[in-house]
Amino acid sequence: MKAIRRFTVRTVLPASISGLGHLASNLRWSWHEPTANLFRDLDPDAYAAVGGDPVALLGQFDRAKLDALAADHSIVDRVNDLTADLDRYLTEPRWCQNLGENAPKSIAYFSPEYGITSVLPQYSGGLGILAGDHLKSASDLGVPLIGVGLLYQAGYFKQALSRDAWQQESYPVLDPDGLPLTLLREADGSPAIVTLPLPDNRQLHAYIWRADVGRVPLLLLDSNIPNNDDAARQITDRLYGGGGDHRLQQELLLGMGGVKALRTYARLTGTPAPEVFHTNEGHAGFLGIERIRELMDYGLTWDEALTAVRASTVFTTHTPVPAGIDRFQALQVGHFFRAGLAPNVPLDGILSLGAENYEGGDPATFNMAVMGLRLGQRANGVAKLHGKVSRGMFSGLWSGFDVDEVPITSVTNGVHVPTWVDPKIANFAAERFGRNTVAEGDWSRAADVDDAELWALRRELRVQLIDDVRERVRASWIKRGASEAELEWTKNVLDPDVLTIGFARRVPTYKRLTLMLRDPARLKKILLHPQHPVQIVVAGKSHPADEAGKKMIQDLVRFTDDPEVRHRIVFLPNYDMKMARTLFPGCDVWLNNPLRPLEACGTSGMKAAINGALNLSVLDGWWDELYDGENGWAIPTAPAGTSAEARDDFESAALYTLIENTVAPRFYGTEAAESAGAAGPSEHGAAGSELPHTWIHMIKHTLSDLGPKVSATRMVQDYVQQLYIPAAEAGREIAANEFANARELANYVSRMRHGFGNVHVEHVESVGIDEEPSLGDYFRVNAYVRLGDIAPHEVQVQVISGTVTANDDLADTVTSNLELAQDLGEGRYLYTMEMVLNHSGSFGYGVRVVPSHPLLASSAELGLVANAH
Ligand SMILES: *Cc1c(COP(=O)(O)O)cnc(C)c1O
Repeated sequence: MKAIRRFTVRTVLPASISGLGHLASNLRWSWHEPTANLFRDLDPDAYAAVGGDPVALLGQFDRAKLDALAADHSIVDRVNDLTADLDRYLTEPRWCQNLGENAPKSIAYFSPEYGITSVLPQYSGGLGILAGDHLKSASDLGVPLIGVGLLYQAGYFKQALSRDAWQQESYPVLDPDGLPLTLLREADGSPAIVTLPLPDNRQLHAYIWRADVGRVPLLLLDSNIPNNDDAARQITDRLYGGGGDHRLQQELLLGMGGVKALRTYARLTGTPAPEVFHTNEGHAGFLGIERIRELMDYGLTWDEALTAVRASTVFTTHTPVPAGIDRFQALQVGHFFRAGLAPNVPLDGILSLGAENYEGGDPATFNMAVMGLRLGQRANGVAKLHGKVSRGMFSGLWSGFDVDEVPITSVTNGVHVPTWVDPKIANFAAERFGRNTVAEGDWSRAADVDDAELWALRRELRVQLIDDVRERVRASWIKRGASEAELEWTKNVLDPDVLTIGFARRVPTYKRLTLMLRDPARLKKILLHPQHPVQIVVAGKSHPADEAGKKMIQDLVRFTDDPEVRHRIVFLPNYDMKMARTLFPGCDVWLNNPLRPLEACGTSGMKAAINGALNLSVLDGWWDELYDGENGWAIPTAPAGTSAEARDDFESAALYTLIENTVAPRFYGTEAAESAGAAGPSEHGAAGSELPHTWIHMIKHTLSDLGPKVSATRMVQDYVQQLYIPAAEAGREIAANEFANARELANYVSRMRHGFGNVHVEHVESVGIDEEPSLGDYFRVNAYVRLGDIAPHEVQVQVISGTVTANDDLADTVTSNLELAQDLGEGRYLYTMEMVLNHSGSFGYGVRVVPSHPLLASSAELGLVANAH
């Protein structure tokens, strides 16, 4: 019989262990080992059966079990200690509380997905896990962040394989009542509701669920509620489920509904309104429209409201892959806004924000990344190289400026160390260096550690991975239709003393899952090498609509099915955070071979590094800036202009060669012997054998040097100092005195947009420089400029000087401001400055006029410039 009604009955805990409820509902347990261990110890089998989910675990206990726990003094003591510890963690002053007055009071962080723990499967990959790590580190640092997202009924899909190795997707439905979430309620107990109008007089309502990520509340909007019609209930059905209208409605709910949810949350809890809005990737960009709507309701004009919103908005772009950028049809966006989402906001204004009205753009398209950039006065990419690539990719929005002046900076991603460091590693370091250093990834004293001890620890981690792999391979084969009797071999998959390479990530084409298969015979030889064998663990989900990705998985799995190599290479279905936490620490080498520069940052290699794995990667994303020759290896990139096929040939061959000649021999400690021409069988693993000291040195160097650089503590501190504080200050300044500065700046911007067409550099002269200048010579630059109606103090006249490249471009430039020397009448002025030739070789300069206003974040911000010709 089917249930006609269902209830989730909340456990009522006996008083002496009531703290368990608090410990289970705050997700800090997901990175606080002692709390997770407490739950495990309540009932190890049940804990394993529910996948380590404390809320589900408590739900399994009957009265008798609870009473037994409540009578167990050691359990009661642990509950009390950990509850007190959690309360201290939630209230004590932390890093951000020492930043003083100008630190933001509250920051809203919007993301379409969050990877906090595998028991809340609301992520598909790197973007979501990064968002989860951002929240966790913000919590650790006491940064007053509030996360905003959607609650998907099924999250991202679960992956399995068919017999013939084709990806199978399933979408188990989640019951929010069984998740570590609390429903936000009005004072009268009814659920708080956010409502958006939809076309055809329909409405979209959503509940607001709160997850507690340590100190950080995360608000998740859920449209699967009785108030909605069936279609509206489906809007939050899946993460990246559909395209078109479905996706647009998700993003409208996330952005516009998200701001409404924040306002409701502030009203019900008395928390301060956010001073900064951080748009983590384009999907949430409609948050800016909702804020413009609020300010226009308050009485500001479109220009004033846009100016005010921009000041306090930070936009982070995450992809240099053009196909990865979220786009809608402008008509479609217009259709939804006409339903009354923002009735007082001019539709052409909204559409102009996402318009690709630049060279190469499509006029019918509404581009969410472009809107993000136009709505955020501050923007960044997620690694230095990605910042550079993004400046090039979006330079059309700032035409007239050199690419390196495009106002998109970068903050390199990081990973939340307490989540991603294996407890064995953390405890090992804590014993030697003290407890608190390790949580921050501080291994500065790694050099003191005994080589043999570290090597033994690395082996333990490998063994732990291999145990997990064997179970997963077996379970996967059973799903693929094999019988128990056929699966004896899975007990011997992988070898605890063999060099282990990991490769796990989503499977879009550019990540090249199958690059390692380019020459299958050569790969086979590497795996089966008699002296230095290699074993490889592979995992990854392909987007359900991506046939090419699924084909790559199939090719790889078919290779791993070969009885000759199946003990040395495995594919593990259903890559998720739980698998990842065993996989990263257990690998000796983390492989990454994307098509450079399409990997914005990549974070899995960072998670491997903090566990002592060495990276073997194309110089893309974070590795491009943090590879130092001693912390791993760089796979060379084919020269620019190489065809796709030749490029894969070149880069795969380079990869094989690196493994064969360098990586494997070094792991087995036979490198020196071989280069001396005395190769012999490896004695690795045998008692009394030589340790691979060079390798171990690389591990120590990775832990001590890379550890702090790849930590999300560093990342969140960078965001606070470089972006949040400036945005909060700009936001306060612009809002002061009833938005007086917003009005002033909007007026200025509009006059610049109208008047800048008449600004010209008419004539430039270099005075006092002879035909053959020498180093140290002084000369004077005079620039005659026409400003029309614009006043001289409203612009900056600049000299850009530097070396001159072969095609007359300036490089290594320095920008200096000229001084106003004379009003020549009729809107014409003479500007001047003295310059010194301070380096030899080719030297050149250019002159330009740019807008200048104290509330602009950069000279390039408005995209307006008059260059001298
Ligand atoms: C870290 C992580 C990712 C992202 O890895 P990239 O290297 O950025 O591709 C994806 N999925 C899971 C489960 C992860 O832990």
